[in-house]
Amino acid sequence: MDTPLEPGRFFLPGPTEVHPDVLAAQNAPMIGHRGKQIQELMSGINEGLKPVFQTTGDVIVSTSSATGLMEAAVRNGTKGGRVLSLVNGAFSKRFAAIAESCGIDTEVWEVEWGTIHDPSELSKRLAAHPYDAVTLSQSETSTGALQDLEAIAEVTGQHAETFLLVDSVTGIGGVETHSDDWGIEFILTGSQKALALPPGLAFGLASQSMLDRSAESKDKGWYFDLARLAKSLTKHETPATPAVSLLYALDLQLKRIAAETMEARWERHKAMQRRTIEWIEEMKASGAPVDVFAAEGQRSPTVTCVATDQSVSAVAEMKRRGWVVGGGYGPLKESTLRIGHMGDHTLEELEALLAELTEVFS
Ligand SMILES: *Cc1c(COP(=O)(O)O)cnc(C)c1O
Repeated sequence: MDTPLEPGRFFLPGPTEVHPDVLAAQNAPMIGHRGKQIQELMSGINEGLKPVFQTTGDVIVSTSSATGLMEAAVRNGTKGGRVLSLVNGAFSKRFAAIAESCGIDTEVWEVEWGTIHDPSELSKRLAAHPYDAVTLSQSETSTGALQDLEAIAEVTGQHAETFLLVDSVTGIGGVETHSDDWGIEFILTGSQKALALPPGLAFGLASQSMLDRSAESKDKGWYFDLARLAKSLTKHETPATPAVSLLYALDLQLKRIAAETMEARWERHKAMQRRTIEWIEEMKASGAPVDVFAAEGQRSPTVTCVATDQSVSAVAEMKRRGWVVGGGYGPLKESTLRIGHMGDHTLEELEALLAELTEVFS
């Protein structure tokens, strides 16, 4: 096995680096998954997740990766009608594929990767045809593009029967997102991205209308039945055994996030994004073969996709030097590399990464 990296050097866009104290929290002794101890733990977690999602509601905790809750979204959030899937990269494409594989009539609206969907065009499409739901990835981790979720939610909000189902896996925890105020029916994230936890947990916030539709859904299965999960949550439990060790890590990380405050966390992510874009512009001006992949004004604060024909060799050279950045994803494998400036990373750590990357590209 490779020698472990020094702290501050792991910049994958998921999983992200996890603080040693958060890793260590997982070593606490086991407790049963029914009764007072787990209820106290889950209750504290529920309070901690509220500011993260900017909600007064209860946030569902699922022992699964985020993809599990993407499947839950379409199975609980539809009622036999058509879904409109907004596709602008690999993860939003996966959301469409999940809907299709669940037997849902799925219409794909794909735009050029690296760009986002125009809310006024969405408005026209929703007026022309009834849809049970719209799916999208808020922050498209394969391209670094950020949808204007507030504007899109405003459009879907005008169609009571059309639910907005949001994959916010590299959003929540790093991108300013107001789930309640924006009126989103279902928004989900995973533990291993902007929340800087180990992989294995997913979190979802369902509106009352989503829970009502879930309760009526005939084809939602059992494990990802959102109404069932939400009902258990009112007793601070889960229907099946949760990943208790991961809950310990989550409990501590939510306290660390509360100490930082969400406002400061969003600002730190924006500052890391600004610096990364600035660095790309500087490098480009000096003749290095790099560019920002996502269109200007449409870029995510958590991940930047760097367009470069030297992606494969640059990722390998960084690895040799003891740093990890992400390769390109799917069809962008050889034409981009990705910097996951999210989670608990600091601007100082990012500066050190960029200094190393400067040498690699010089
Ligand atoms: C990572 C990621 C996923 C998949 O999450 P898993 O936890 O691997 O299931 C989905 N959507 C986006 C935008 C992601 O970044």
